[in-house]
Amino acid sequence: MRKAFLLGFICALAYVAATTAQQNALQTAASTLGVANLKTLEFKGSGRNFSVGQNYTPAEPWPAVPVKEFTATMNFETASMRVDLLREMGTVMPRGGGAPFTGQQRQIQFVSGNYAWNMPPAAPGGPAPQAAPNAAAQPERMLALWATPQGFVKAAMANNATTRQARGNTEVFFTVGGKYKMTGTINPQGQVTKVQTWIDQSIVGDMLVETTYSGYQSMGGVMFPSRILQTQDGYPALELTVSGVTANPAFDAPVPDTVRNAPPPPAVVVAVDKLGDGVYYLTGGSHHSLAIEMRDHIVVVDTPNNEERAAAVLAKAKELIPNKPIRFVATSHHHWDHLGGIRTAIDEGATIVTHQSNKAFLERVAKTPHTLVPDRLAASKKPLKIQTMGDRGQLTDGTRTIEFHRLQGYEHTGDMMVTYLPKEKILAEPDAFTPPPKAGMPLVVTAVPSAKALLANIQRLKLDVAVIAPFHGNRKTDVAELANAAGATGTN
Ligand SMILES: [Zn+2]
Repeated sequence: MRKAFLLGFICALAYVAATTAQQNALQTAASTLGVANLKTLEFKGSGRNFSVGQNYTPAEPWPAVPVKEFTATMNFETASMRVDLLREMGTVMPRGGGAPFTGQQRQIQFVSGNYAWNMPPAAPGGPAPQAAPNAAAQPERMLALWATPQGFVKAAMANNATTRQARGNTEVFFTVGGKYKMTGTINPQGQVTKVQTWIDQSIVGDMLVETTYSGYQSMGGVMFPSRILQTQDGYPALELTVSGVTANPAFDAPVPDTVRNAPPPPAVVVAVDKLGDGVYYLTGGSHHSLAIEMRDHIVVVDTPNNEERAAAVLAKAKELIPNKPIRFVATSHHHWDHLGGIRTAIDEGATIVTHQSNKAFLERVAKTPHTLVPDRLAASKKPLKIQTMGDRGQLTDGTRTIEFHRLQGYEHTGDMMVTYLPKEKILAEPDAFTPPPKAGMPLVVTAVPSAKALLANIQRLKLDVAVIAPFHGNRKTDVAELANAAGATGTN
């Protein structure tokens, strides 16, 4: 009895000591990082950022883009941050996707409270640029502010963080905005070494964004990491070597009226272009799809962007082809912009027709938690039905045949299956060739190799193509225009 009492007492003492140590860890971090005296902060560096969702296959890392200059300026009191990136690309894009560009590209991104927007860089002698609202980016940017070492300690203290000892370090847990979980690790020196947050992503769900900090040193009177590595969904998304820090620069980012009063984004529109009997080219947004009528069912190629777009595409297919189920949804390739609504297709009950390199990824996608923004599949929990292809595949009802061919020698992605309707002589393809808005305009130089690869594959497969239906852009095209673009040297 007495022993038990004594043991309990010792345990209680140990608990008090541990709790104090944990609270001390946040205090230690606050004093090490100079948190109390920092209202604003700026850091500069260079490195690479990565095109998330654009890997060559799902098993490979995101393609890298060099970042020549990176400047983040933040105000912790107004919860605002400006990130100014100067990216640079040579004449060849890295293996994998990402919008083709060449030369320098500047991006200026803002978050302030509940608002996020982009500011196009001012052109010399041109009109003042207008802020472009980007509400979808708000959670990620807001969390990036609170994931900086100083921001993390401030947010932990403001949000009643809980802590626990782990292998000599202190782990810190709290929620920001009543919704977003943050966890972090503070080492015995009071340095924040790792921060984890989760943001919604329509395909992979509650997506882990993990930032690790190392090489702390005093810069501009502030202890700050000299190396920053952020991963998204497990692969590097940002790598920075920090070259300078400024404490308390004059900075705020008031929300522009045009952002605060921006009208809600327009409703999703699915426009229809009938390419042939029972063949519908579904456009009206940034990413197009195909709906094909079969004897007793419908085949859709690509449910892009997100659930809203995918649901509208599937509904339009059923409206155009009434009283038949959508039995198959084929993926052109696994890049996240084109795959964005794949969970909606799984929920629809369709069998997903895709290249075999996507099988493991889609099996994971079908089950991944979507607690931040629950979607239809999160509620229905329908199992994935999948039919994989190698270099070619086909769907037929005895009358109509749909062929799928994998593009070879194509650096944009390893799993690009173009859709070919031999009877109708229609070829549907995303990304390989997007005709410029007006015929005769040259392609950006980094887009030419993709056009060349598409042309070479059409020739290799001896496809008789009358119409190319690209999944981007504002018009259909043909092999003559493709050949012209592929032969051109391109322009900057
Ligand atoms: Zn792509």
